[in-house]
Amino acid sequence: MLDSTLDTLDLHTLGQEMYSLIEELYPICRSITGDGFRETLCRIQRFIPIAVHEVPSGTRVFDWTVPKEWNIRDAYVKDAQGNRVIDFQRSNLHVMNYSVPVKRRISLAELKGHLFTLPEHPEWIPYRTSYYEEGWGFCLPHRQLLTLIDGEYDVCIDSALEPGHLTYGECYLPGESQDEVLISCHACHPSLCNDNLSGLSVATILARHLVSMSRRLSYRFLFIPGTIGSITWLSRNKSTVSRIKHGIVLACLGDSGGYTYKKSRRGNADIDRAFGHILEHSSSPHRVVDFSPYGYDERQYCSPGFDLPVGCFMRTPHGQFPEYHSSADDLNFVRPESLAGSFQICLSVLHLLEHNLVYVNRNPECEPQLDKRGLYPSVGRYQDPGRLRLAMLWVLNLSDSKHTLLDIAERANMPFGLILESARLLHTSGLLIPHRAPLGGS
Ligand SMILES: [Zn+2]
Repeated sequence: MLDSTLDTLDLHTLGQEMYSLIEELYPICRSITGDGFRETLCRIQRFIPIAVHEVPSGTRVFDWTVPKEWNIRDAYVKDAQGNRVIDFQRSNLHVMNYSVPVKRRISLAELKGHLFTLPEHPEWIPYRTSYYEEGWGFCLPHRQLLTLIDGEYDVCIDSALEPGHLTYGECYLPGESQDEVLISCHACHPSLCNDNLSGLSVATILARHLVSMSRRLSYRFLFIPGTIGSITWLSRNKSTVSRIKHGIVLACLGDSGGYTYKKSRRGNADIDRAFGHILEHSSSPHRVVDFSPYGYDERQYCSPGFDLPVGCFMRTPHGQFPEYHSSADDLNFVRPESLAGSFQICLSVLHLLEHNLVYVNRNPECEPQLDKRGLYPSVGRYQDPGRLRLAMLWVLNLSDSKHTLLDIAERANMPFGLILESARLLHTSGLLIPHRAPLGGS
């Protein structure tokens, strides 16, 4: 069950692979619907099996409606000499995402009502959307806005906003148990890297890693447009969401900041404890923050009607890095080693969940004599036999059919890996047996 790979991960190669995937997807103009989203799923399908779902525009999903589908071919603003002063072909961020079609000649004064800049970062192009209110606009560096001279401009947005579909991708990897781990990321942003091609690439390579592993738990990876995607998925899968025992929303995992884990609404779900434990025993800067009803798709998974055990794993959270939602969230802002570190934490958490079982001490009346069973260890991966022996004593003491290995690791304040290693040695020696009904989740 996800064994043996944690210590032998080639993090350098994995980091490069995730970065290359981001490089490949970066130029595509994605949105919450449309061909850019489909193209993205198509490219991910090279790595993992993905079922692509298409939900018609106009479909009611709880209090929302699946919007019209948006596609764009070209867009520009031309000056009087016919020069493209703003050009979609140079960056898809130049067009406000979901802009309706436009072809007009207008004055600079009127044009300015449709231009968006970031005066505090005059070299950057902002990322703007208008999904649920029809409109149009262009985004540009503030420095460039200041150079636009009075006169008339030809404005063209060659887009289509028509009845079509909302597309999402689902990769389901069945395990021995129907109990599921949900791993969800939004895939609707155009040329932006940390938010959220980073989450997309970590999820993809994580899924590829799990494909060939034997799995106790089942895994469901969702590649969805933000907000409307999770709402749509939940409305179509309401009858089976009770299988979700643990869930993570992945976002902003490629910057060089420390880790941030945002707890589920429940606050004490196994996923919350697993992330807290793995981060605490990692050597990396991190913080664990409480749930709040603002952020990514955890808002929907943790809405009161579902209250699923789904947290959100990030490095620097949305809105807390200046490059957020701007052209500066580019290929230079994310780093292969940051992606690799995020991947390693995720895999360590999944490994913990896979092995977080309950055992029973078969010799509960006073301590068993470890020496005569060869359990005074001088061998093993752990260099400190005294610590391993102490871990065995903790496992023996708390394996009373009521405590999971994570319960024991927390109480002993020891890394889960050490507690698991101890449990295996004790199991092999016959002192410990798995509890008949392992706890599948919270
Ligand atoms: Zn965003």
